[in-house]
Amino acid sequence: MKVPFLDIKLQNEPLRDEIRAAIEAVIDSAAFAGGPFVESFEADFADYCCAGRAVGVSNGTDALWLTLLAMEVGPGDEVITVPSTFMATAEAITYCGARPVFVDIDESTYTMDPGALSEAITPRTKAIIPVHLFGQPADMDPIMVIARRHGLRVIEDAAQAHGATYKGLPAGSIGDAGCFSFYPGKNLGAFGEAGAVVTGDDELCDRLRILRDHGQVHKYHHTMIGWNCRMDGIQAAVLEIKLRHLNAANARRRAIAARYDRELAGLPGLVTPARSPHAQHVYHVYAIRTPDRDDVIRSLAQNGVGTGIHYPIPVHLQGAYSGLGYGRGDFPRAERCAEEFISLPMFPELTGPQVSHVVQTLKETLCAGVMA
Ligand SMILES: *Cc1c(COP(=O)(O)O)cnc(C)c1O
Repeated sequence: MKVPFLDIKLQNEPLRDEIRAAIEAVIDSAAFAGGPFVESFEADFADYCCAGRAVGVSNGTDALWLTLLAMEVGPGDEVITVPSTFMATAEAITYCGARPVFVDIDESTYTMDPGALSEAITPRTKAIIPVHLFGQPADMDPIMVIARRHGLRVIEDAAQAHGATYKGLPAGSIGDAGCFSFYPGKNLGAFGEAGAVVTGDDELCDRLRILRDHGQVHKYHHTMIGWNCRMDGIQAAVLEIKLRHLNAANARRRAIAARYDRELAGLPGLVTPARSPHAQHVYHVYAIRTPDRDDVIRSLAQNGVGTGIHYPIPVHLQGAYSGLGYGRGDFPRAERCAEEFISLPMFPELTGPQVSHVVQTLKETLCAGVMA
């Protein structure tokens, strides 16, 4: 049996006619860059996130970068984040001229350790970017308390957490701003590149709208140096339809995760993801940990099961960041996880028999390992 790691085609198939009609409406109106379709999606997405306002942008990386720029983070400043994330979180910090400062993760939730956060704050610190890795919100309450005590802004990297909640509040609505990616493989995926920032801060929202459109307040009146980070009308029209199906898709992911949790529990040398009592996880990624990663991946592949690794190299050890002066051993929990993570197949259309096949293969592999 074949079990792909991800199959986006299956997700789009039932929506094909509805999406085709929406794209045709964009063609008819020629509102391709920004415009009414983007505004309509922004209103829906802000409501979905209980976040006041949303600003549609070109992708998730730009969402993070523009938010930092809008907060006037720049050269000489430090922004604290985690090394267990996609490269983009740190790149956004670097691109506005500030320095990424990393803190280790909590080894059960794989998100920012608030204790480590306190120790990393310096007089140069301007902002904190907790990452809701794999779809599980970071422990936001202590992070917000620390941030407020030091007068720091908080940007949630919610690129993997559309629809997740923390103590009942939607991911993205807790900090000063929440940044989302609609890259096709995310829980809410566009037909290309797109992203958004949600915020309850009207002044920040206004600055973001100006920055994403060349710093223009009105056509050809530029009050800031901005950039072109507009969202496409077609992406907005597609996302507006897919947003209506997001809760059902996330519920499917949670049901699949519950089966993995239950059926993989107690296997020798395997750790399943912990559920934070405060959070509703949306399982963008279902990552297990095992010290015998290479053998397990090989055995799954031999049995037709696709896997991924998110991420094999923590950001502080990436070659591109060698200039920051970090080294192996600086963030032992993030490093250990990076060596042990395996992402199992996870998407809403995964069938019951496919999940059984993944579980059965893992059982045979890990139990054979113990017998050998
Ligand atoms: C996908 C992702 C991003 C970047 O989003 P893009 O839309 O690909 O630019 C940023 N942070 C995290 C945690 C992500 O998973």
